[in-house]
Amino acid sequence: MRTRFAPSPTGPLHLGHAYSAILAHDMARAAGGNFLLRTEDIDRSRARPEWEEMIYDDLRWLGLSWETPVMRQSERMHAYETALDTLWQNDLLYPCTCTRRDIDIALSAPQEGTPVTGPDGPVYPGTCRGEHCGGLPCSMSARASDKHLRLDIGQTRGYLDHHFDAPTGGTFGLAFLEIGLNRPGDVFTSDEEYRNRIGDVVLARRDMGTSYHLSVVIDDAAQGITHVTRGEDLFEATRIHVLLQRLLGLPTPVYHHHRLIRDEYGKRLAKRDDARAIRTYRDDGASPGDIRRMVGLA
Ligand code: GLU
Ligand code: ZN
Repeated sequence: MRTRFAPSPTGPLHLGHAYSAILAHDMARAAGGNFLLRTEDIDRSRARPEWEEMIYDDLRWLGLSWETPVMRQSERMHAYETALDTLWQNDLLYPCTCTRRDIDIALSAPQEGTPVTGPDGPVYPGTCRGEHCGGLPCSMSARASDKHLRLDIGQTRGYLDHHFDAPTGGTFGLAFLEIGLNRPGDVFTSDEEYRNRIGDVVLARRDMGTSYHLSVVIDDAAQGITHVTRGEDLFEATRIHVLLQRLLGLPTPVYHHHRLIRDEYGKRLAKRDDARAIRTYRDDGASPGDIRRMVGLA
């Protein structure tokens, strides 16, 4: 068993993160496996080395230890670019110049009906699909790096059927095994759900050259992660991750989504909630055992 904790160094470690990290760590230790870390710093405008240092210091203080070296996403752009090239060559990506506002306007057109919300917000209406490569397959031109790149989700099934074993009859779909608290068992997403409820997600942001979805899938595979433990806010996004794993020929780990730690008002703990930062509890004299008790893991 190989588990991981993958913090974004955009703020202090708070109780919710500590819960996630301890769960992943204890799971690996109990199974005689390995616990790994990964710094998710692709958003260079928000990531700070000071936060990274503080997060690791808090994790050590909590009594966690991990395999080194720690993987850092900002050093892995070549891996993301290789995957984007593969998808681009196979006409699974297209450039998009829409702003959030363009998308809202397109979705408010009467024929669009009620907008569906997917894992990344409103499902993209497909405005730029087939527009920006001069009416020719995008693979005939160089991969655009100055625009968002979206996955042409309607093309993915044909690609998978062609390149991998085509399913024989029945409903086409993809599944992952969920072992988390609320819904243990196989989670299935049909081809139709991919098209209607997820849509053409952004895989490379113009300002980053990659995206959370693409990087997390490539790096979980690169680190040999067998069990992904993370908050249930990422449960729906896992459907995207499974599709990307299939498209890129990567294994699908087992997923353990856990409940989110909420404050006494039921509000989700955000990173800016400095009052809940582990550092604040430390300064107030709390012990690592106190933190475990606070998140229900003592
Ligand atoms: N870096 C992500 C976050 O801090 C975690 C992503 C994941 O665990 O898949 O929210
Ligand atoms: Zn667009």
